[in-house]
Amino acid sequence: MERLKMTCHACRNACEIEAEYEDGEVTEVIGNGCMRGIMRAQNEVRKLAEQALDMGKKTAGSDKK
Ligand code: SF4
Repeated sequence: MERLKMTCHACRNACEIEAEYEDGEVTEVIGNGCMRGIMRAQNEVRKLAEQALDMGKKTAGSDKK
């Protein structure tokens, strides 16, 4: 289980959101004032998962001789 802290800027409330996630999927979100905060948290978590996947591919590719 990992945690992500972020600020939602979808409206002027600027909610401080904390999301728990596992395997690229959000399992819990707190601090969001509305559903958009959950969607944004999920988007951020997916981006992180994609970046981690890309880094893994690059690292694996660098091992090739
Ligand atoms: S979670 Fe909802 S209320 Fe909070 S900043 Fe984002 S859009 Fe606004």
